[in-house]
Amino acid sequence: MKTEFSLAQLADPDIAEADKILRACVHCGFCTATCPTYVLLGDELDSPRGRIYLIKEMLEKNRPPTQEVVKHIDRCLSCLACMTTCPSGVNYMHLVDQARARIERDYARPLAERALRAVLAWVLPRPGLFRASMMLARLGRPLAALLPTSKTASPSPTLLRRIKAMLALAPNRLPASGPSGGTTFPPLGARRGRVALLQGCAQQVLAPRINQAAINLLTRHGIEVVLVKDEQCCGALTHHLGRDGDALARARANITVWLEEAGRGGLDAILVTTSGCGTVIKDYGFMLREDRDFASPAARISALAKDITEYLSGIDLRPSQQQHGDIVVAYHSACSLQHGQKITQLPKELLSKSGFVVKDVPESHLCCGSAGTYNILQPDIASRLRDRKVANIAMVKPDMIAAGNIGCMVQIAGGTSVPVVHTIELLDWATGGAKPGLS
Ligand code: SF4
Ligand code: SF4
Repeated sequence: MKTEFSLAQLADPDIAEADKILRACVHCGFCTATCPTYVLLGDELDSPRGRIYLIKEMLEKNRPPTQEVVKHIDRCLSCLACMTTCPSGVNYMHLVDQARARIERDYARPLAERALRAVLAWVLPRPGLFRASMMLARLGRPLAALLPTSKTASPSPTLLRRIKAMLALAPNRLPASGPSGGTTFPPLGARRGRVALLQGCAQQVLAPRINQAAINLLTRHGIEVVLVKDEQCCGALTHHLGRDGDALARARANITVWLEEAGRGGLDAILVTTSGCGTVIKDYGFMLREDRDFASPAARISALAKDITEYLSGIDLRPSQQQHGDIVVAYHSACSLQHGQKITQLPKELLSKSGFVVKDVPESHLCCGSAGTYNILQPDIASRLRDRKVANIAMVKPDMIAAGNIGCMVQIAGGTSVPVVHTIELLDWATGGAKPGLS
């Protein structure tokens, strides 16, 4: 794609990066076929190619984002299916990240929307506040039935519709908190390795059992696990809201405490059980590439970050003698894992080797609609995607559904009675741990 940035514009490293990405795009449109919003809405401007044109126009003309640009960028899930499909290697992720940051900086959203986004950006990365908000939401759930639902994908869902979506996501009960930062779990037997385990923010409130399963499995296999003190939310949530100042501050803080921990006791890896977080931590090196003090430490941390299944594929898992029958597991491939990190086979191989009957889900490239805060901000599109995902999962008649990302787990569980568990819970069970709690 031909671009027309001036030399002065190209002096800005972000614009130079956008120029490189835009020039790689050859307008072929292959990406449209796998884009969930294009598949649902059929509008070229809701396809990757359409969005790329909108972003190009906005950046080249150096104009504030228009209402139309904002509408179509807001509808993008950042699922990155387009990057998997693109034959020219267009880095849509870095382009749309830049567009979101510019929208956040230069576009005046309506007051109610600004307030909602500010609340999400403030509450979600703080587990204490998030827990309190979930308790409040649970009390407010009876009110959800009184709030409006639209049948079609609204271009700008109302605040009430979004509040209804938020209330619907609140769990019936909250589990007790898991172990806090600063805790070390020694290995059983001889130590074979030492890792940090990302504590996450929403996950530690909604399902601390996931990291507990990871700790149980790792220590059982001789790996020491550290929950690093003063670790924060990885920044993914605010990054996807375009609030890069907040996201980068969190990245720097995490890099600092992780490197301190690596200096003290050594770290073979920083393990992540929430693939949405893993994708962003693996991108810290890019996000901080222009930061003189943090560019190199960030690259080091990105290299250390691993999805839990990547790490487990390098150690010999010891299956237990206990039988768990021929359990049919529908494996839901989270977008952040399959498109963001290109991890597609490993989780399924680990599950198969552990004795589960693993089934691929039809249309597995399509997002379930969770996508960070998307199911709150775009509830109508998100519900349609969830219903489509759940129908596809039902086709393989599973006993359980496994996924590697808490957002997907909550989203899918909202539309099915089949138990939804994390991949690590099944692997822990198969190697001597407890049967997944399924709470
Ligand atoms: S990230 Fe997903 S929703 Fe956004 S343009 Fe790409 S395929 Fe479409
Ligand atoms: S598939 Fe790649 S090159 Fe083709 S239009 Fe989409 S982004 Fe551009």
